[in-house]
Amino acid sequence: MSGHLRTNDMPSHITPSTPLTKTMPDRMAKSLMTAPSPLKIFGAAKKRIRDIFADIAAYVEESKDFVKDINDDRIMDGVGKSSISKYSGKVSGIRDVLARDLMKVVFFGRTSNGKSTVINSMLRSKLLPSGIGHTTHCFVQVEGTDSTEGFMLLEGSEERRPVASLKELASALSAVKLEQNALIRICWPKNKCGILKDDVVLVDSPGIDVDPDLDSWIDKFCLDADVFVLVANAESTLMQTEKNFFLKVSDKLSKPTVFILNNRWDASASEPETMEMVRSQHLERNKKFLCQQLKVVSEKEAEDRIFFVSAKEALHQRLTESGVATAPLGAVLEGYQSRLFEFANFERTFEECISRSAVKTKFAQHACKGKQMACELKDIMDSLLDRCYSIREELRKTKTLSGERLKQLERQLADIGLDIEDSIQKITDDVQLKVSRALSDELRRLHILVNEFERPFHPDPVFMNLYKKELHVHVESGLGKNVQARCSSSLDELVNITEQRMAERLLTMLPDGRHEAVSKQLASKPAFTVEYRLDARNLCADFKEDIDFKFSFSPSNLISKYIGRQVPFTAFWNQSAFQPRIPTTIPPTVEAQMDSPPPPNVFANGDLAVTLMRLAPAVSSTGTLFCISVAGLMSRYVGWKVLTVVGGIYGSLYVYERLLWSNRAKERAFKSQYVNYASSKLQLIVDMTSANASHQVQQELSGTYARLRHEVEQAKAELKTDIEEMKKDMKRFDESASKAKTLRNKAGWLENELKDFIGRYIDYA
Ligand code: GDP
Repeated sequence: MSGHLRTNDMPSHITPSTPLTKTMPDRMAKSLMTAPSPLKIFGAAKKRIRDIFADIAAYVEESKDFVKDINDDRIMDGVGKSSISKYSGKVSGIRDVLARDLMKVVFFGRTSNGKSTVINSMLRSKLLPSGIGHTTHCFVQVEGTDSTEGFMLLEGSEERRPVASLKELASALSAVKLEQNALIRICWPKNKCGILKDDVVLVDSPGIDVDPDLDSWIDKFCLDADVFVLVANAESTLMQTEKNFFLKVSDKLSKPTVFILNNRWDASASEPETMEMVRSQHLERNKKFLCQQLKVVSEKEAEDRIFFVSAKEALHQRLTESGVATAPLGAVLEGYQSRLFEFANFERTFEECISRSAVKTKFAQHACKGKQMACELKDIMDSLLDRCYSIREELRKTKTLSGERLKQLERQLADIGLDIEDSIQKITDDVQLKVSRALSDELRRLHILVNEFERPFHPDPVFMNLYKKELHVHVESGLGKNVQARCSSSLDELVNITEQRMAERLLTMLPDGRHEAVSKQLASKPAFTVEYRLDARNLCADFKEDIDFKFSFSPSNLISKYIGRQVPFTAFWNQSAFQPRIPTTIPPTVEAQMDSPPPPNVFANGDLAVTLMRLAPAVSSTGTLFCISVAGLMSRYVGWKVLTVVGGIYGSLYVYERLLWSNRAKERAFKSQYVNYASSKLQLIVDMTSANASHQVQQELSGTYARLRHEVEQAKAELKTDIEEMKKDMKRFDESASKAKTLRNKAGWLENELKDFIGRYIDYA
């Protein structure tokens, strides 16, 4: 160290009672007094790194909480989460070690070289027993405690023993024999000793010449040591055992920090003429040992590791300064103040070294590990952030597409809906027209259908009832079949094609999976057929046939024919007041009613027939009487002969017609009456039937459209729900990204803190 003072710089007129700093040149004294202790660097570094690791621990907890709430494997899966949790254990392990980290210095040397005296000098207290017969035969560690009273702990025991008993226990002459590598811990109040306040631990060892188990010593006490002090006896040269020990240490630890204190330098004062020569000799040998044999420092650095001191004088001086009564030192030897100053210089250099070395050995590894953790956590958060961004971007794109798709669906549905409703209306109108025409045609051809009915006919009333029922069924099914044959194939095809087109247009609006499912459902739907319900049985149930024999030239027939086909003579016969009545037999067809003029008003004709009609009821209530009356009246004008001939012909015609009035003729008459009756009745339901068919078509098409529309509406609703979900997901991803970004930045900040720590404390050291 360039600032270190060498013994030759010091004047030799100083007495043991003079405070050291007062006897030094002002510049040097001021420097030693005001310069902060290098040990503070360790304390500051320790506090800083502990604070950083506390931040890292909080960061890890925050990260754990954050990833715990992430339920999306695309962002972070279980493996990622557990990898973050693992940092928790690592950080708490490091924090525990950091809490225990102290600067450790171990003193080695042969018995009675003054190790205990050196430690006592540094502690400014006669804490460790020293002197011939009180040489330490086990390891004694002195560390600071916050307690006001010091105490002692034996290895493996928590029992606090009085420090005074140390003399007894640690002494080689003690009755209680401790193992050579046993450890006694002395916990000494920090406020009594500055060096302990700064987390320094001093370890005294048994003499290295006392049959040492060097390997176990090193393993047990040296691996975590920051500085080794070889306390040598300036009155002799370094022994091989001392060298061997450090060579072994150097094997196990790379470049240990070793100081050589050539103690008992006061003894050289008795021979001042050889002092410089002896000093040079020691210096050369010590340097050779450090540089060439141990290879821990360069030649130049070695000079700062070798000191010539008198621990005994230093202890005495310090105890005197602090007012502790102590045995007189005896005569003040030449170079006293120089040796005191060299001891102080050793302490200062040692403090710098131990602080630097401890910062390096204790914190470098932790700082690097912490930096690596911060870097890894930063990478984790970075990739998490990237995934959040990319998934959010995908979501945004999908949401935009879904929004456009939704608008398109709404537009399409509105357009297609109007089209379809229009075409359904057209088709239903068309169907109504077609069915109406077909039915009307069939009614015009009803006589063919009725004539095709070929059941045996018999006028017996019981037989007739059965015959009529079967005829109703025949007409009903025949008409149905015929209308169906004329309309169904074209209508059904029309409906099916319309449905297909409807489906083609609407199914394209469904998502692929749904599209196929609905297509299958539509395909499995039974083919549509229009049903025609004519219900001839009920419509024609009131039909009353008139198949009694009627002579064509009977007066009533003739009158009927004369005054109107539909007005029977009996009408006049039976109605005393001559009121018109609704005919009981063959009603005119609707067409006939429409086409033919209204029935003549019998009371409007003022001719002979009217006269006869008026006369007839007056003459007799029977037709025969009426005929005789007419014959008598006629005979006056044409003579009886003519009348007889006419009567004969008339009778023959009657007989002839009567003979022709067979069952066959009756059947023909029946069917003819039935055709007229049924035609007129069924004509009434043409509109109803065609409207019914059109209604069926309309129902079918509307049903299919409604179903398809429902599917599209459902697809729309699903799309809306998806969009809402996507909005929520995007919000979630935004929050996650924001949190991940914060954590990434925090990790970066922690990494920088550790870089700064390394730059300030480790690289500097
Ligand atoms: P240790 O066995 O290495 O711990 O040695 P001690 O510290 O117990 O010292 C052994 C003896 O050497 C004691 O009587 C000390 O007073 C004496 N001693 C220690 N340091 C010095 C010194 O610098 N000069 C002289 N003259 N005696 C010393």
